[in-house]
Amino acid sequence: MEADGPTTRSRSEAYAECQGVLAHTSATTAAPRSSAPPTVSVRGSEATYRASGQLPRASTRRRRCGSIPSMSNSVADVYARCTDDPEGHGRETTVFDAILAKISPRSEVLRLLPHRERRMVGAWCFVDLYGPRPVKPGDGDAMHVAPHPHTGLQTVSWLVAGEVTHRDSMGTTAQVVPGRVAVMTAGDGIAHSEDVRPGADDGVLHGAQLWIALPESERHRARDFVLHAPAPFLEADGALARVFVGSLGGVTAGAQAYTPLVGAEVTRRGEGSARLPLEPAYEHVLVPLAGSATVEGTSVGHGQAMYLGVDRLGLELDLSPDARVLLLGGEPFAEEIVMWWNFVARTHDEVEQARAQWNAGGDPRFGEVEHYPTDERLAAPALPNVRLQPRGRVPSSAPRSDS
Ligand code: MN
Repeated sequence: MEADGPTTRSRSEAYAECQGVLAHTSATTAAPRSSAPPTVSVRGSEATYRASGQLPRASTRRRRCGSIPSMSNSVADVYARCTDDPEGHGRETTVFDAILAKISPRSEVLRLLPHRERRMVGAWCFVDLYGPRPVKPGDGDAMHVAPHPHTGLQTVSWLVAGEVTHRDSMGTTAQVVPGRVAVMTAGDGIAHSEDVRPGADDGVLHGAQLWIALPESERHRARDFVLHAPAPFLEADGALARVFVGSLGGVTAGAQAYTPLVGAEVTRRGEGSARLPLEPAYEHVLVPLAGSATVEGTSVGHGQAMYLGVDRLGLELDLSPDARVLLLGGEPFAEEIVMWWNFVARTHDEVEQARAQWNAGGDPRFGEVEHYPTDERLAAPALPNVRLQPRGRVPSSAPRSDS
């Protein structure tokens, strides 16, 4: 869904002007990274965001359009501020705050990945939460992302409420609805659009847009889109988990990634603490869509994420009654990647080529969303004056580069 950047139409020009206007809300001081697991640290202010559905404006400094672009929360700019992720070194419960990002003139999202303090979790490389927000008839801007390209990734669309129309350059039109995950594999290249369908559901839009980086062996594969059957449930002690990608506790989703991975939505079941089985080789993160969760005395709420580290055979957590929490995990992604705009690549030159091919129009690498109802199309913004730097993982004992 990320679509930062100018478009060819006036409506989106306003949007382009508003890029780079939102400041990073989280504390940027480096937390101590102990080599002795487990560690417990909390970064940023806890409970900054309540589960009210209101965006956390109070804690955000809003900049005027046209001000310093270096603090833009576009994927490219956030990724440029990321450092390498340290190698996993055990369990932790590290909380960080979302940053606000604008995806259209009146639509803001809470962005958890990439984040200056956590670049990736497994192959998960992008986590945006949107809503809950009301959708009125004619309010296409609640989510209006005109045709744009992707490379080197899979998009995972998970809705709590509302309905989104997906169209792509394979000719697909699909209605993404709550409980059924939509997985689009960009492979070497695809173009797609996403538009909210007003009047659907109870007039509320609420969901998550996630990206999975494809490994080297799969990143040039053919494009694909699958709207899966309703996600299977894991009935665990105190929790119900809808497994929408990979496997959890022996429950296997219809959607499988190309690296060992899990994506599930956890809600409370009955009274008392919840217990979930985990794969110890995976690193995990909890991302509340609503409510809150507490692990080892540390709480995480809507608008935050809690990185859990690796080496967990299971997870005991206390969920608030209204909790709806994403559990995302996977084997730490070993390869260095570059993320810029809607592209996941390996080098600056690859990004430059993809950008030029898309902006030229009509390139078979991406195709066009020919059945989009208007001729709107998002153009890739200008590249920065410096070369994009691949980021990867460094041993936890190595000093972190803040270049
Ligand atoms: Mn997209």
